[in-house]
Amino acid sequence: MAYRPATIEELAEMIREAAAHGRSLAVSGTGSRPGIGPGAADADLDLTGLGGSIDHDPGELLLTLPASTPLDHVEKLLAQSGQCLAFEPPSPDAIWGLGHGTIGGAVASGLSGPRRPFAGACRDHVLGLSGVTGRGEIFTAGGKVLKNVTGFDLPRLLTGSRGTLAVLTQITLKVLPLAPAQATLLLPADTAAKAVRIMADALMVDGGITGAAWSESEVQLRIESSSAVLPALVDAARARLPASTLIEGDASRALWAAIASLYDHAHADEIIWRCPLPANRAPALAALLPPDARLRLDWAGALAWVLLPAGAADLDVHGLVAQAAGRDGHAERLRGAASAIPARAPLEPGLAALSARVKALFDPAGILSPAAAPGGAA
Ligand SMILES: Cc1cc2nc3c(=O)[nH]c(=O)nc-3n(C[C@H](O)[C@H](O)[C@H](O)COP(=O)(O)OP(=O)(O)OC[C@H]3O[C@@H](n4cnc5c(N)ncnc54)[C@H](O)[C@@H]3O)c2cc1C
Repeated sequence: MAYRPATIEELAEMIREAAAHGRSLAVSGTGSRPGIGPGAADADLDLTGLGGSIDHDPGELLLTLPASTPLDHVEKLLAQSGQCLAFEPPSPDAIWGLGHGTIGGAVASGLSGPRRPFAGACRDHVLGLSGVTGRGEIFTAGGKVLKNVTGFDLPRLLTGSRGTLAVLTQITLKVLPLAPAQATLLLPADTAAKAVRIMADALMVDGGITGAAWSESEVQLRIESSSAVLPALVDAARARLPASTLIEGDASRALWAAIASLYDHAHADEIIWRCPLPANRAPALAALLPPDARLRLDWAGALAWVLLPAGAADLDVHGLVAQAAGRDGHAERLRGAASAIPARAPLEPGLAALSARVKALFDPAGILSPAAAPGGAA
Protein backbone atom coordinates (compact mmCIF):
# COMPACT_ATOMS: atom_id res chain seq x y z
CA MET A 1 0.00 0.00 0.00
CA ALA A 2 1.32 3.51 -0.78
CA TYR A 3 0.34 7.06 0.03
CA ARG A 4 1.43 9.78 -2.38
CA PRO A 5 0.23 13.17 -1.14
CA ALA A 6 0.18 16.19 -3.48
CA THR A 7 -0.39 18.83 -0.76
CA ILE A 8 0.60 19.23 2.89
CA GLU A 9 -3.08 19.11 3.87
CA GLU A 10 -3.47 15.75 2.05
CA LEU A 11 -0.32 14.51 3.79
CA ALA A 12 -1.72 15.50 7.20
CA GLU A 13 -5.00 13.73 6.44
CA MET A 14 -3.18 10.58 5.30
CA ILE A 15 -1.05 10.49 8.45
CA ARG A 16 -4.14 10.94 10.65
CA GLU A 17 -5.86 8.09 8.79
CA ALA A 18 -2.83 5.81 9.08
CA ALA A 19 -2.49 6.62 12.79
CA ALA A 20 -6.16 5.87 13.36
CA HIS A 21 -5.63 2.41 11.82
CA GLY A 22 -2.24 1.80 13.43
CA ARG A 23 -0.73 1.54 9.96
CA SER A 24 3.04 2.20 9.97
CA LEU A 25 4.52 4.39 7.23
CA ALA A 26 7.89 4.11 5.49
CA VAL A 27 8.71 7.77 4.98
CA SER A 28 10.97 8.14 1.98
CA GLY A 29 12.46 10.77 -0.25
CA THR A 30 13.68 8.68 -3.18
CA GLY A 31 14.42 5.59 -1.11
CA SER A 32 18.10 5.80 -2.06
CA ARG A 33 18.94 4.13 1.21
CA PRO A 34 17.59 0.58 1.11
CA GLY A 35 15.91 -0.98 4.11
CA ILE A 36 14.48 2.22 5.56
CA GLY A 37 12.35 3.47 2.67
CA PRO A 38 9.77 1.73 0.49
CA GLY A 39 8.65 -1.70 1.79
CA ALA A 40 9.96 -1.18 5.32
CA ALA A 41 6.52 -0.61 6.89
CA ASP A 42 2.79 -1.40 6.43
CA ALA A 43 2.54 1.32 3.79
CA ASP A 44 4.91 3.54 1.85
CA LEU A 45 4.70 7.32 2.12
CA ASP A 46 6.10 8.60 -1.16
CA LEU A 47 6.89 12.31 -0.91
CA THR A 48 8.06 12.90 -4.47
CA GLY A 49 4.65 14.35 -5.39
CA LEU A 50 4.93 17.07 -2.75
CA GLY A 51 6.34 19.89 -4.85
CA GLY A 52 6.46 23.64 -4.25
CA SER A 53 8.51 26.65 -5.22
CA ILE A 54 12.22 27.17 -4.64
CA ASP A 55 13.15 30.54 -3.12
CA HIS A 56 16.90 31.20 -3.39
CA ASP A 57 18.13 34.59 -2.13
CA PRO A 58 21.88 34.64 -2.93
CA GLY A 59 22.31 38.07 -1.30
CA GLU A 60 20.97 36.80 2.01
CA LEU A 61 22.64 33.37 1.64
CA LEU A 62 19.24 31.74 2.04
CA LEU A 63 17.51 28.86 0.29
CA THR A 64 13.94 27.71 0.95
CA LEU A 65 12.76 24.67 -0.99
CA PRO A 66 10.52 21.58 -0.95
CA ALA A 67 12.01 18.62 0.93
CA SER A 68 11.43 16.51 -2.17
CA THR A 69 13.95 18.51 -4.22
CA PRO A 70 16.70 16.18 -5.57
CA LEU A 71 20.06 16.89 -3.93
CA ASP A 72 21.93 17.18 -7.23
CA HIS A 73 19.41 19.81 -8.43
CA VAL A 74 20.09 21.84 -5.27
CA GLU A 75 23.82 21.76 -5.84
CA LYS A 76 23.51 22.76 -9.50
CA LEU A 77 21.17 25.64 -8.62
CA LEU A 78 23.53 26.97 -5.93
CA ALA A 79 26.63 26.58 -8.10
CA GLN A 80 25.02 28.93 -10.65
CA SER A 81 25.34 31.67 -8.00
CA GLY A 82 28.78 30.53 -6.80
CA GLN A 83 27.24 29.09 -3.63
CA CYS A 84 27.03 25.68 -1.97
CA LEU A 85 25.71 23.62 0.94
CA ALA A 86 28.75 24.09 3.17
CA PHE A 87 27.96 20.89 5.13
CA GLU A 88 28.71 19.03 1.91
CA PRO A 89 26.07 16.23 2.00
CA PRO A 90 27.45 13.19 0.12
CA SER A 91 25.54 11.53 -2.69
CA PRO A 92 24.20 8.11 -1.73
CA ASP A 93 24.43 6.95 -5.34
CA ALA A 94 27.99 5.63 -4.91
CA ILE A 95 26.95 3.33 -2.09
CA TRP A 96 23.57 2.05 -3.26
CA GLY A 97 23.35 3.14 -6.90
CA LEU A 98 19.80 4.44 -6.31
CA GLY A 99 20.32 8.07 -7.21
CA HIS A 100 21.43 11.18 -5.32
CA GLY A 101 18.51 11.36 -2.90
CA THR A 102 16.58 14.46 -1.86
CA ILE A 103 17.43 17.42 0.34
CA GLY A 104 14.72 16.15 2.72
CA GLY A 105 16.47 12.77 2.98
CA ALA A 106 19.82 14.45 3.59
CA VAL A 107 18.40 16.71 6.35
CA ALA A 108 16.35 13.88 7.87
CA SER A 109 19.56 11.82 8.00
CA GLY A 110 21.67 14.69 9.28
CA LEU A 111 24.07 14.09 6.43
CA SER A 112 27.38 15.98 6.72
CA GLY A 113 30.42 15.50 4.48
CA PRO A 114 34.18 16.26 4.75
CA ARG A 115 33.77 20.00 5.46
CA ARG A 116 31.76 19.27 8.64
CA PRO A 117 34.57 19.89 11.17
CA PHE A 118 35.34 23.21 9.45
CA ALA A 119 31.95 24.61 8.34
CA GLY A 120 29.58 22.91 10.82
CA ALA A 121 27.15 20.02 10.52
CA CYS A 122 23.93 19.74 8.54
CA ARG A 123 21.88 20.79 11.57
CA ASP A 124 23.92 24.01 11.91
CA HIS A 125 22.75 25.04 8.44
CA VAL A 126 19.04 24.26 8.84
CA LEU A 127 17.27 27.51 9.75
CA GLY A 128 13.65 26.49 9.33
CA LEU A 129 11.38 23.55 8.63
CA SER A 130 7.75 22.90 7.79
CA GLY A 131 6.09 19.51 7.92
CA VAL A 132 3.60 17.21 9.58
CA THR A 133 3.98 15.30 12.84
CA GLY A 134 2.88 11.70 13.41
CA ARG A 135 -0.32 13.20 14.90
CA GLY A 136 -1.13 14.74 11.53
CA GLU A 137 -0.40 18.27 12.81
CA ILE A 138 1.02 20.75 10.29
CA PHE A 139 3.84 22.84 11.80
CA THR A 140 6.38 25.47 10.87
CA ALA A 141 9.50 25.91 12.99
CA GLY A 142 12.43 28.28 12.84
CA GLY A 143 12.56 30.83 10.03
CA LYS A 144 14.97 32.68 7.79
CA VAL A 145 17.49 33.98 10.28
CA LEU A 146 19.76 32.20 12.75
CA LYS A 147 18.35 33.74 15.93
CA ASN A 148 14.72 33.01 15.16
CA VAL A 149 13.90 30.15 17.42
CA THR A 150 11.18 30.71 19.98
CA GLY A 151 10.42 27.74 22.19
CA PHE A 152 11.96 24.38 21.33
CA ASP A 153 14.54 24.41 18.53
CA LEU A 154 12.62 21.92 16.36
CA PRO A 155 14.92 22.31 13.32
CA ARG A 156 17.79 20.95 15.39
CA LEU A 157 15.69 18.13 16.87
CA LEU A 158 14.22 17.05 13.54
CA THR A 159 17.50 17.19 11.61
CA GLY A 160 18.79 13.63 11.78
CA SER A 161 15.48 12.20 13.09
CA ARG A 162 15.14 10.05 9.94
CA GLY A 163 11.41 10.53 9.50
CA THR A 164 10.66 8.98 12.91
CA LEU A 165 9.17 12.17 14.46
CA ALA A 166 7.77 14.15 11.54
CA VAL A 167 7.59 14.32 7.77
CA LEU A 168 9.46 17.35 6.40
CA THR A 169 7.82 19.22 3.53
CA GLN A 170 9.79 22.48 3.27
CA ILE A 171 13.32 23.38 4.43
CA THR A 172 15.15 26.70 4.82
CA LEU A 173 18.92 26.45 4.69
CA LYS A 174 21.80 28.82 5.18
CA VAL A 175 24.05 28.54 2.12
CA LEU A 176 27.62 29.78 1.78
CA PRO A 177 29.90 30.99 -1.01
CA LEU A 178 31.70 28.29 -2.95
CA ALA A 179 35.45 28.75 -2.53
CA PRO A 180 36.78 29.92 -5.93
CA ALA A 181 39.99 27.88 -5.64
CA GLN A 182 41.09 24.71 -3.93
CA ALA A 183 44.09 22.42 -3.74
CA THR A 184 44.87 19.19 -1.91
CA LEU A 185 48.12 18.10 -0.30
CA LEU A 186 48.75 14.35 -0.41
CA LEU A 187 51.00 13.13 2.42
CA PRO A 188 52.20 9.51 2.73
CA ALA A 189 50.94 7.76 5.91
CA ASP A 190 50.74 3.96 6.12
CA THR A 191 49.13 3.73 9.57
CA ALA A 192 46.09 5.34 11.21
CA ALA A 193 48.32 6.58 14.04
CA LYS A 194 50.64 8.44 11.61
CA ALA A 195 47.63 9.80 9.73
CA VAL A 196 45.92 11.14 12.87
CA ARG A 197 49.18 12.85 13.96
CA ILE A 198 49.61 14.54 10.57
CA MET A 199 45.95 15.63 10.49
CA ALA A 200 46.17 17.00 14.04
CA ASP A 201 49.26 18.99 13.02
CA ALA A 202 47.50 20.21 9.91
CA LEU A 203 44.67 21.62 11.98
CA MET A 204 47.23 23.87 13.67
CA VAL A 205 48.10 25.44 10.30
CA ASP A 206 46.52 28.86 10.22
CA GLY A 207 43.79 29.11 7.63
CA GLY A 208 42.25 27.46 4.67
CA ILE A 209 42.07 23.77 5.57
CA THR A 210 38.54 22.46 4.92
CA GLY A 211 39.13 18.73 4.56
CA ALA A 212 41.37 16.16 6.29
CA ALA A 213 41.03 12.49 5.37
CA TRP A 214 43.07 9.29 5.19
CA SER A 215 42.79 6.34 2.79
CA GLU A 216 45.16 3.63 4.10
CA SER A 217 48.29 5.01 2.42
CA GLU A 218 47.98 8.78 2.34
CA VAL A 219 46.50 11.76 4.12
CA GLN A 220 44.52 14.21 1.98
CA LEU A 221 44.35 17.83 3.14
CA ARG A 222 42.05 20.20 1.24
CA ILE A 223 42.77 23.92 1.24
CA GLU A 224 40.10 26.27 -0.08
CA SER A 225 40.37 30.02 -0.66
CA SER A 226 40.51 32.72 -3.32
CA SER A 227 42.92 32.11 -6.23
CA ALA A 228 45.08 34.99 -4.99
CA VAL A 229 45.50 33.66 -1.45
CA LEU A 230 45.61 29.91 -2.11
CA PRO A 231 49.35 29.67 -3.02
CA ALA A 232 50.35 31.35 0.26
CA LEU A 233 48.12 29.02 2.27
CA VAL A 234 49.58 25.98 0.50
CA ASP A 235 53.11 27.20 1.19
CA ALA A 236 52.27 27.81 4.87
CA ALA A 237 50.91 24.28 5.20
CA ARG A 238 53.86 22.73 3.39
CA ALA A 239 56.30 24.64 5.59
CA ARG A 240 54.80 22.99 8.65
CA LEU A 241 54.01 19.46 7.40
CA PRO A 242 56.01 16.49 6.03
CA ALA A 243 56.77 16.27 2.30
CA SER A 244 53.69 16.11 0.09
CA THR A 245 52.45 16.18 -3.47
CA LEU A 246 49.86 18.70 -4.66
CA ILE A 247 46.76 18.39 -6.79
CA GLU A 248 44.69 21.44 -7.71
CA GLY A 249 41.36 22.62 -9.15
CA ASP A 250 39.05 20.02 -10.71
CA ALA A 251 41.33 17.12 -9.79
CA SER A 252 41.08 18.20 -6.15
CA ARG A 253 37.29 18.69 -6.37
CA ALA A 254 36.85 15.22 -7.91
CA LEU A 255 38.94 13.66 -5.14
CA TRP A 256 36.78 15.21 -2.40
CA ALA A 257 33.51 14.28 -4.10
CA ALA A 258 34.83 10.69 -4.08
CA ILE A 259 35.96 10.89 -0.45
CA ALA A 260 32.57 12.34 0.57
CA SER A 261 30.49 9.59 -1.01
CA LEU A 262 32.99 6.74 -0.70
CA TYR A 263 33.01 6.65 -4.49
CA ASP A 264 35.56 4.08 -5.68
CA HIS A 265 36.48 3.64 -2.03
CA ALA A 266 34.10 0.86 -1.08
CA HIS A 267 34.15 -2.28 -3.23
CA ALA A 268 30.72 -3.27 -4.55
CA ASP A 269 30.23 -6.16 -2.13
CA GLU A 270 31.83 -4.62 0.92
CA ILE A 271 29.92 -4.05 4.16
CA ILE A 272 30.08 -0.38 5.17
CA TRP A 273 30.15 0.79 8.77
CA ARG A 274 30.12 4.50 9.62
CA CYS A 275 31.78 5.19 12.96
CA PRO A 276 32.07 8.71 14.44
CA LEU A 277 34.57 8.70 17.35
CA PRO A 278 37.22 10.98 18.94
CA ALA A 279 40.05 11.30 16.38
CA ASN A 280 42.70 10.18 18.89
CA ARG A 281 40.81 6.87 19.32
CA ALA A 282 40.90 5.99 15.61
CA PRO A 283 44.31 4.23 15.90
CA ALA A 284 42.90 2.08 18.71
CA LEU A 285 40.01 1.05 16.44
CA ALA A 286 42.48 0.29 13.63
CA ALA A 287 44.38 -2.03 15.98
CA LEU A 288 41.18 -3.96 16.84
CA LEU A 289 40.08 -4.61 13.25
CA PRO A 290 40.64 -8.03 11.61
CA PRO A 291 43.35 -8.16 8.89
CA ASP A 292 40.82 -8.31 6.02
CA ALA A 293 39.06 -5.12 7.17
CA ARG A 294 39.83 -1.76 5.56
CA LEU A 295 39.69 1.59 7.36
CA ARG A 296 39.16 5.07 6.00
CA LEU A 297 39.21 8.27 8.05
CA ASP A 298 37.49 11.59 7.43
CA TRP A 299 36.86 14.65 9.62
CA ALA A 300 40.57 14.69 10.57
CA GLY A 301 40.10 11.23 12.09
CA ALA A 302 36.77 11.80 13.89
CA LEU A 303 34.81 9.77 11.32
CA ALA A 304 35.95 6.20 10.60
CA TRP A 305 34.64 4.12 7.71
CA VAL A 306 35.11 0.40 8.38
CA LEU A 307 34.90 -1.60 5.14
CA LEU A 308 34.46 -5.35 5.56
CA PRO A 309 34.36 -8.26 3.12
CA ALA A 310 30.87 -9.70 2.62
CA GLY A 311 31.79 -12.74 4.77
CA ALA A 312 32.31 -10.59 7.87
CA ALA A 313 28.60 -9.86 8.44
CA ASP A 314 28.76 -10.99 12.05
CA LEU A 315 31.68 -8.84 13.15
CA ASP A 316 30.42 -6.81 16.11
CA VAL A 317 31.66 -3.37 15.07
CA HIS A 318 29.57 -1.79 17.85
CA GLY A 319 31.71 -3.73 20.34
CA LEU A 320 35.01 -2.79 18.65
CA VAL A 321 34.11 0.92 18.63
CA ALA A 322 33.07 0.70 22.30
CA GLN A 323 36.44 -0.93 23.10
CA ALA A 324 38.32 1.77 21.21
CA ALA A 325 36.32 4.83 22.25
CA GLY A 326 34.00 3.84 25.09
CA ARG A 327 30.73 5.85 25.10
CA ASP A 328 32.31 8.54 22.87
CA GLY A 329 32.10 6.33 19.79
CA HIS A 330 29.15 5.20 17.69
CA ALA A 331 28.76 2.71 14.86
CA GLU A 332 26.13 2.28 12.16
CA ARG A 333 26.04 -0.26 9.35
CA LEU A 334 25.06 1.70 6.27
CA ARG A 335 25.33 -1.15 3.82
CA GLY A 336 25.44 -4.94 4.24
CA ALA A 337 23.14 -7.90 4.65
CA ALA A 338 21.04 -7.93 7.81
CA SER A 339 22.71 -10.13 10.44
CA ALA A 340 22.57 -10.88 14.13
CA ILE A 341 24.38 -7.57 14.63
CA PRO A 342 21.88 -4.66 14.47
CA ALA A 343 22.71 -1.83 12.04
CA ARG A 344 22.33 0.68 14.87
CA ALA A 345 22.95 -0.26 18.51
CA PRO A 346 19.99 0.12 20.87
CA LEU A 347 20.18 3.35 22.89
CA GLU A 348 21.39 3.36 26.48
CA PRO A 349 18.47 3.17 28.96
CA GLY A 350 18.44 6.88 29.87
CA LEU A 351 18.65 8.00 26.25
CA ALA A 352 16.09 5.39 25.21
CA ALA A 353 13.62 6.68 27.81
CA LEU A 354 14.12 10.29 26.67
CA SER A 355 13.78 9.31 22.99
CA ALA A 356 10.62 7.34 23.75
CA ARG A 357 9.08 10.39 25.45
CA VAL A 358 9.95 12.64 22.48
CA LYS A 359 8.61 10.00 20.06
CA ALA A 360 5.36 9.73 22.03
CA LEU A 361 4.91 13.50 21.78
CA PHE A 362 5.40 13.67 18.01
CA ASP A 363 4.11 10.26 16.94
CA PRO A 364 1.96 8.72 19.70
CA ALA A 365 0.75 5.89 17.44
CA GLY A 366 4.38 5.07 16.60
CA ILE A 367 3.70 4.84 12.85
CA LEU A 368 6.53 6.91 11.33
CA SER A 369 9.60 5.16 9.85
CA PRO A 370 9.73 2.14 12.16
CA ALA A 371 12.81 0.73 10.36
CA ALA A 372 14.81 3.93 10.99
CA ALA A 373 14.50 3.72 14.77
CA PRO A 374 17.58 2.98 16.96
CA GLY A 375 18.25 -0.77 17.23
CA GLY A 376 16.70 -1.14 13.74
CA ALA A 377 17.87 -3.90 11.42
CA ALA A 378 18.41 -1.78 8.26
C1 LIG B 1 28.67 8.84 2.62
C2 LIG B 1 27.26 8.67 3.15
C3 LIG B 1 27.03 8.80 4.50
C4 LIG B 1 25.74 8.59 5.00
N1 LIG B 1 25.56 8.71 6.33
C5 LIG B 1 24.32 8.53 6.82
C6 LIG B 1 24.10 8.66 8.21
O1 LIG B 1 24.97 8.96 8.98
N2 LIG B 1 22.84 8.45 8.67
C7 LIG B 1 21.80 8.14 7.82
O2 LIG B 1 20.68 7.96 8.27
N3 LIG B 1 21.98 8.01 6.48
C8 LIG B 1 23.21 8.19 5.98
N4 LIG B 1 23.43 8.05 4.66
C9 LIG B 1 22.30 7.71 3.80
C10 LIG B 1 21.70 8.98 3.22
O3 LIG B 1 21.20 9.70 4.24
C11 LIG B 1 20.60 8.69 2.31
O4 LIG B 1 20.99 7.79 1.35
C12 LIG B 1 20.06 9.93 1.61
O5 LIG B 1 20.04 11.05 2.39
C13 LIG B 1 18.73 9.63 1.27
O6 LIG B 1 18.04 10.51 0.50
P1 LIG B 1 16.60 10.07 0.02
O7 LIG B 1 15.90 11.32 -0.31
O8 LIG B 1 16.65 9.01 -0.99
O9 LIG B 1 15.97 9.53 1.37
P2 LIG B 1 15.52 8.05 1.72
O10 LIG B 1 16.59 7.08 1.44
O11 LIG B 1 14.20 7.83 1.10
O12 LIG B 1 15.36 8.23 3.30
C14 LIG B 1 16.49 8.36 4.12
C15 LIG B 1 15.97 8.68 5.52
O13 LIG B 1 15.40 9.98 5.53
C16 LIG B 1 14.01 9.94 5.90
N5 LIG B 1 13.34 10.92 5.04
C17 LIG B 1 13.46 11.07 3.70
N6 LIG B 1 12.72 12.13 3.27
C18 LIG B 1 12.13 12.65 4.39
C19 LIG B 1 11.24 13.74 4.64
N7 LIG B 1 10.82 14.55 3.65
N8 LIG B 1 10.80 13.96 5.90
C20 LIG B 1 11.24 13.18 6.93
N9 LIG B 1 12.08 12.12 6.77
C21 LIG B 1 12.52 11.87 5.52
C22 LIG B 1 13.55 8.52 5.66
O14 LIG B 1 12.51 8.17 6.54
C23 LIG B 1 14.84 7.75 5.98
O15 LIG B 1 14.97 7.56 7.37
C24 LIG B 1 24.68 8.26 4.12
C25 LIG B 1 24.91 8.17 2.75
C26 LIG B 1 26.19 8.38 2.27
C27 LIG B 1 26.44 8.30 0.79
